[in-house]
Amino acid sequence: MDAQFVEEGAQVANIDNTVKNKWRWAWLDEVGEGGRPIRSWCKKLKVAGACMCVLCHKKLVYGSNGKKVLIRHQSDGAHRAAVRSLAHTSSLPGASAATTETQLSMADRVCDLKIRVCGFIAEHDLSLTLSQPLVELINGDTVHMVSNAAKALLVPFGGYVEDFSRKVYCDIEKFPKQKELFSEIQGLLHMEPKSVIRPISTRFLQMLDVCNRLQELIDPLIVHYYSILSPADKRKYR
Ligand SMILES: [Zn+2]
Repeated sequence: MDAQFVEEGAQVANIDNTVKNKWRWAWLDEVGEGGRPIRSWCKKLKVAGACMCVLCHKKLVYGSNGKKVLIRHQSDGAHRAAVRSLAHTSSLPGASAATTETQLSMADRVCDLKIRVCGFIAEHDLSLTLSQPLVELINGDTVHMVSNAAKALLVPFGGYVEDFSRKVYCDIEKFPKQKELFSEIQGLLHMEPKSVIRPISTRFLQMLDVCNRLQELIDPLIVHYYSILSPADKRKYR
């Protein structure tokens, strides 16, 4: 059980002693919209007069208005969108032990992300027709999803890093003479000779390895290209 939630049925009088409407576990049995019990999305927080909707990740304060707050939350736009989209794709996380804890399984994290996307769509009045394809997108292979997101994020940079690393690779690794010279430079710098990694365009996340290797080889690369540096750069790297 998540440390921030009270286990169902436990004493809450000591937590809620300062509020007018005290928590009642019977509220969770109440069946709301779509025959869904409040239990499926609501957890009592270890905070006076507050519980949490695990679908919206929203703290609900019932201290002064009681159960009404929970009933009302079910008609909240973001909440409805989250319930609707989850109903299409998987069981509700509230039914299991889904929490806001950081130690979530991959399945829970995917679920969590779906909820957030739905909440975002509802909150910003975006077309709800978006929610289904977006949620399906999240269903896809996570690595591809991350890769696609990273690619989209880097579009404004015009592929500068990819281009640069590809040019360095071609320049050195495709010509045996250059390759040999580059190994020799590394040897002179007391380094174990390593190659520049070829960037693979379809494996975007591999760019991290490519960049790390370039960074590792920065000293021999400076030596290798020293003769063609501008006078200012030569002074800088002398
Ligand atoms: Zn909610």
